Amino acid sequence: MNRLSAILPFVPAPTDIAAELAAHGLGEFEQSALRALWHSADIAALRGRLSVALAPWADDASMRAGHAPVANFFSACLDVVGWELDQAWPERMRSQWLALQLGTVPVGLAARVASAIVATLQADLAAQRASLSALDASLIQIVSRIGFFLVGWLDGAASVTEAQARLLAEYVEPGSGLPNRAALEQIFLPAEADEPSSAMLAVALMWGGSAIVLNSAERDLARIEIGRALGKRARPGDSLCRVGDDEWVLWAPGIGAGVRPQLAAAALLESGEQALRNVGLAAHATLAVGGALTPEDGSTADGVFNAARRARAAALREGRTIRIAGPELEMERAERVQTEREFIEALRNNAFELHLQPVIQLSDGECPGAEALLRWQRADGTAVPPLTVVAMAEQFGLMQQLTRLVIQRATAMLSELGEQGVPIGIAVNLAGGDLRDPELPEFIAQALATWHIAPSRLALELTEGSMIADDAQTMSVIARLRDAGHGVALDDFGTGYSSLAWLRRLPATRLKIDRMFVHKMPETAQDRAIVRSVVQLAQGLGLSVIAEGVEREEHVHMLRAMGCDAAQGFHIARPMPLDAFIAWWRRWNSETQAAWPPVTG
Ligand code: C2E
Ligand code: CA
Ligand code: CA
Repeated sequence: MNRLSAILPFVPAPTDIAAELAAHGLGEFEQSALRALWHSADIAALRGRLSVALAPWADDASMRAGHAPVANFFSACLDVVGWELDQAWPERMRSQWLALQLGTVPVGLAARVASAIVATLQADLAAQRASLSALDASLIQIVSRIGFFLVGWLDGAASVTEAQARLLAEYVEPGSGLPNRAALEQIFLPAEADEPSSAMLAVALMWGGSAIVLNSAERDLARIEIGRALGKRARPGDSLCRVGDDEWVLWAPGIGAGVRPQLAAAALLESGEQALRNVGLAAHATLAVGGALTPEDGSTADGVFNAARRARAAALREGRTIRIAGPELEMERAERVQTEREFIEALRNNAFELHLQPVIQLSDGECPGAEALLRWQRADGTAVPPLTVVAMAEQFGLMQQLTRLVIQRATAMLSELGEQGVPIGIAVNLAGGDLRDPELPEFIAQALATWHIAPSRLALELTEGSMIADDAQTMSVIARLRDAGHGVALDDFGTGYSSLAWLRRLPATRLKIDRMFVHKMPETAQDRAIVRSVVQLAQGLGLSVIAEGVEREEHVHMLRAMGCDAAQGFHIARPMPLDAFIAWWRRWNSETQAAWPPVTG
């Protein structure tokens, strides 16, 4: 028995609807007769006439405030007339009625609504027939009985005392008439260890970027329809609460563990998605469901609700739409928390390494610079790939700190290299968020000043993907970096979708051809053609051009012949720690470079 029903006599315990209808003289025969009538009627027209009939009350000043609840209530009334009934219907109807009460409806509305419905239906029926048959006459009778049924049914809820109204305001979400977050707290009863599990399923509606074209009425319509659809999926005893603008929770006591919560979640998702399709908004929004159980995943409403939300977040991370909490999820979470802790620890202790990979000039084989690449080894010895490190930093909101650490490291390395007689430059990689940090150029300037390093020795690499096409702030940060004397490279060129017009406006000084094109150049004419054109394009725009992923000697010869300025790749050297790099650079200068260009074997 839920505690809310003790507070709110209006949120009823499940009703046996068949019995209720039978008590109003609406048995099997009447129901099927009415269904037949319904199927032959023009529903849209009927709804239209109904709203005309109900308009005088909808215009009532005291009701205008609650217009959405009125519309919902009419819809629920039509459900009973149309016999679209299911087990959850009484609760739905009653909650809509409650929402009307909250909007302070005029006294006697139930009776007036019911009589409008009856009169409209009867007129409809009469208009369809030239002369009334005995069956039609009995249908008209059935319709009036429905009227009585509705009035009788709602009468009990018609007078709301002030104290009750306060409770309603506290526990019912007025837009949808559904119980709210506070009500969820009241309904929740933790299951004991020996009882079947109860589940909380948290449904989220997520608007896509294209939803920007929708107005608030369209969004509200989707929300109302989804709420209705989810409510229809509830079993007797379940409660659907609206816990946010775009979030609902189904509380399913005693549903049991195993596949049941999963199946219930799938059913919710399906009906919610159907509702989105019905209102024509499926292209603009998606739904996801996370579930959690009591006693397994928590013993308080808050605890279980949060576990359900975490499960939903995990589903979304994995590109799924449903996930139920469980021991594995908690382990993953513990793992994530541990990783995050280790990551912060590593930031604090400067535990990230930068390896240097040489970039050589193709004209004379000289090595004027290197790219700094991030390396992180976790406490257990596993090496985390740099793109994963970057993704983690973004996820934990620590990208700015990581980038600043990388820049400080690179500047310290530049100083060390200078002292060792290796006067090269270093390029560091920036992530998308870095460009939205207007203080970045100032930070870099200070770091360089501390070590007395010329700005020309530090270059910055950015990928197309990290730049929003026409973001003024991004462009201004890049321009400031270039104007301060830094090289600015457009990295991974060819993997994005940027236009040539954009490329022309980009304040870059270098372009790096992605290794995807360089790789199969010797075998594929198309890739050769692409690389050749990119080299020409870069030259035309006044950019120097670097080929990445140079893994074979043939690459070197072809790129030289095409007029490409510089090359980087495993064929020249792999990324390596500072000491190894210094040793490599000295050897390269004395041996390899003297014999440049290499003779083809
Ligand atoms: P990237 O900027 O394109 O860096 C070049 C990547 O290609 C490096 O991978 C390098 O080890 C690899 N590579 C170099 N030569 C060859 C070759 O001949 N063949 C092949 N197959 N690969 C080659 P790595 O070190 O795993 O870095 C991956 C990406 O992580 C980088 O791609 C960059 O986008 C990102 N990254 C690395 N360090 C940082 C950093 O400090 N900050 C940020 N924001 N991103 C970083
Ligand atoms: Ca790079
Ligand atoms: Ca690259």
